[in-house]
Amino acid sequence: MQNHRKPTSRVRIGALPKHFPRVHALTASAAACVLVLAIFIPTPEVEAKRMPLPVNLSPTTEETETGVEQVQAEEISPNQGIALASAATEAFKSLNLTVRNGDTLSDLFKRAKVSAGEMYQLLGSGKEAKKLARLNPGEELTFTVTTDGKLQSLALQKDRLSQVRFTRDTESKFQHDLVQREPDSHPAYRQGQIDSSLFVAGSDAGLSDSLIMEMADVFSSDIDFALDIRKGDSFSVMFEEKFLDGEKIGNGPILAVSFTNQGHTYSAVRYVDSSGDANYFTPEGKSMRKAFIRTPLDIVRISSHFNPRRLHPVFKSRRPHNGTDYAAPRGTPVYSTGDGRVIASGYSKPNGNYVFVQHGERYVTRYLHLTKRNVKKGQRVKQRQVIGTVGSTGYATGPHLHYEFLVDGRHRNPATIVRKLPKAKSVPSAEMTRFKNQTQPLLAKLENYQGPALAKLDDDN
Ligand SMILES: [Zn+2]
Repeated sequence: MQNHRKPTSRVRIGALPKHFPRVHALTASAAACVLVLAIFIPTPEVEAKRMPLPVNLSPTTEETETGVEQVQAEEISPNQGIALASAATEAFKSLNLTVRNGDTLSDLFKRAKVSAGEMYQLLGSGKEAKKLARLNPGEELTFTVTTDGKLQSLALQKDRLSQVRFTRDTESKFQHDLVQREPDSHPAYRQGQIDSSLFVAGSDAGLSDSLIMEMADVFSSDIDFALDIRKGDSFSVMFEEKFLDGEKIGNGPILAVSFTNQGHTYSAVRYVDSSGDANYFTPEGKSMRKAFIRTPLDIVRISSHFNPRRLHPVFKSRRPHNGTDYAAPRGTPVYSTGDGRVIASGYSKPNGNYVFVQHGERYVTRYLHLTKRNVKKGQRVKQRQVIGTVGSTGYATGPHLHYEFLVDGRHRNPATIVRKLPKAKSVPSAEMTRFKNQTQPLLAKLENYQGPALAKLDDDN
C-alpha cells in the first residue's frame, strides 16, 4: 500500500498549493477572453529598422521600458519585455490567446493568422519548442508578429509564475528563455478557539483546510485530534502568505504555531537546517516528530462532523477493554501509527478483520473490526500508511476502530506512553545558535500577535 503521507509532507503541505496557478489561469482566461478581441494592439508607427535584437532580453532593460511607453503598457504583462522591446524598433502586432479545451497549437496559429510554416519552424527549433505541441486549457499564448505576418516571438504563460518565451534571433532562429517569477511572502497570523470542531474553528479563523491539517500534523505525536480535543481548546498560528502583483495567490508553510489542549500549551516552530531541510521543533529544539502518531485514523474524515460529546469512547464491550475505540464512518482509512512490520493480518470472530504491527523490539499496535485489510503478514509499513479501513466486523455494535498499544506484551495507554517515547533527532548542539537565531524572531512574533489577547486576560485577573 502506498504511504498515505510521507513524514516530509509536513514541510510541503503548506507550500504553494499545486492547483492555484490553474485556478488563476482559469480566472485569467476569462479576463483574457474579453481582452483577446480587443488586444490586437495597434503598435505605434516606429521607424522600421531591421531588428537588431537586444542582447539582454530581460524586461528590465532600458529598451524594454522605452517599449512599454510606446505600446499600451497597461495591457501588457511585464513578462512580455521582449515583445515590447521589439515593438520599439519595428511595427509589431501582439496578440494574446487563451488555450481552450481541445485547442491544438495549429488552431492557435490559425487564430493568430500566422502560417503553419512559421509554426513548424518554431516547433523544429528544439526540445522546449516541441513541448508547445502539448498545451493545456487556460494557458496563454502571446504572439508577436511583424506586419508582414512573420512570427517574431511567442510567449507561453503556463501559470502566473512561469513563462517560456521563444524569440527569433538575428539569424532568424528561435531561441527560448524561461521566466520564473517569485511571489512575495508575508507572515500572516490567525487564532481561534474550538467550540465544536477543529475544522470549524480553523475555517472560522480564516485558515484553509490544508493549513488546518498542517497544524494538526505538527502536533500529531502530542495530541490525539480525534479524542483529545475539547471545547475551549485554542490555537494561534503564523504562516506565510504568498502574493503576486499585490494579489494573494496561496499560502506558504506554517512558521510558528501553538495549540492549547485541555489546558496544556504545545508550541512548535519551523526550522530550516543548514542542509536545507525544514522541520518543526519545540522552542527548545526538540523534534515534534516521534516514533508514533497519536491518531490511527484520517482525522479529516472524522473531524468534519465530530462534536465534543462524541470524542469519548462510545462503544462498550463486555470484555476487559484494553484499547481505545474511535467511532468513525465505515471506510475511514486506518493508519499504522508508526513504522513497523505486520505480524498478523487476519479474521477472528471477536476481532473481525484485524491487523497487528510490530514496531522495533518492544512495541506492538493492534487495529480491530476493519472492513478491509490492506496489508499482509510480513509486510513492512510506514507511519501513516493505510493498513485498512474502519468497519464493524467481529464483536462490534457499530463502525469503529478498536486500537491497542502494547509495550513488552502489556497493554498500555498510548496517550501516556507515546509522550515518553524518544522523539526524532533534536537540533544538534552545533547548530543550536543557528536554530535560535532563526526561530526566536518567529516565536517572538507569534507571541507579539497573541499579545493583545493575553494582556486582556491579565486585566481580567
Ligand atoms: Zn474496543
